[in-house]
Amino acid sequence: MGEFDLIRRYFQRPATAGVDVGVGDDCAVLVPTPGARWLVSSDMLVEGRHFLSTVDPARLGHKALAVNLSDLAACGATPRGFTLALALPRVDEAWLASFARGLWALADASACPLIGGDTTQGPLNICITVFGEAPPGQALLRSGARVGDEIWVSGRLGDARLALEVFRGTVALDGAAFDGARVAMECPMPRLALGQALRGIATAAVDVSDGVLGDLGHILEASRVGARLDVDALPRSAVLAAQPAVVQRECLLAGGDDYEIIFTAPVGARLPDTGVALTRIGVIEAHPGLRVVDAHGAAVDHGLRSFDHFKS
Ligand code: ADP
Ligand code: MG
Repeated sequence: MGEFDLIRRYFQRPATAGVDVGVGDDCAVLVPTPGARWLVSSDMLVEGRHFLSTVDPARLGHKALAVNLSDLAACGATPRGFTLALALPRVDEAWLASFARGLWALADASACPLIGGDTTQGPLNICITVFGEAPPGQALLRSGARVGDEIWVSGRLGDARLALEVFRGTVALDGAAFDGARVAMECPMPRLALGQALRGIATAAVDVSDGVLGDLGHILEASRVGARLDVDALPRSAVLAAQPAVVQRECLLAGGDDYEIIFTAPVGARLPDTGVALTRIGVIEAHPGLRVVDAHGAAVDHGLRSFDHFKS
């Protein structure tokens, strides 16, 4: 099977509403919503770095798009389309069919059509660029947190990292517990409805890809504020809650790969009900830096750092 047959077979579908031209020409042609702003983000997944070579290809297709949609969600954007740049070591049709199935399922569920891309031979590498829209001035940014705002997080944290530790052999879980954690790691659900519902309510937002310490840190830096974070308030699964305290803190604070949304909002703000649990985890303060405390307000010396590809 050649490059163009492969594209036609797995990645080309009739253009949908809002897309004049999709896959198949030199460029895609999109119809902008009058007055809206474009929001654009890219994320690359490299084998061995971001995923294990043994991962189910359908889950990989899902996750490659999910991590990108999570950036749109964090900004409160409505998805409009995405491109897929794919390097494949060889044409493995069973792998491609499964990968495409996972990818399209999330694309359809998110009303985010595949509009183009590039395909080349090489070490397995998946780079997606997502395009979204938001009304002018309504994109949620990292820079808007104000002193006194409460800090909230969606869903639960830490399970993806817990599953990674099982693969690394530092944690043992029984079958059902491991399956649950593994779904968190391999099939994160981007919080698109929540992000859009937070337009005009949240003062700042970020998605948790590298761990709460680092990602909340981005809000603090961009907003030039500090914060107090209650580590005991961080929402966690029963499986994670059964682990030793040191494992829990590592997974919750420095885990990453959660793809939940951290946002700040004024005290008393009416938070949207999108079916996703929201938990208050701290407060924005004037004094710079992040102070991690326990439920009694005592300082927690965690000694942890968030993930950074170029720091060991
Ligand atoms: P060009 O050489 O003009 O850049 P390509 O030959 O790379 O075009 O791609 C042909 C068409 O297929 C283009 O519309 C491109 O966007 C699309 N395409 C290529 N690879 C993919 C892919 N992995 N997923 C979706 N569309 C793709
Ligand atoms: Mg090309």
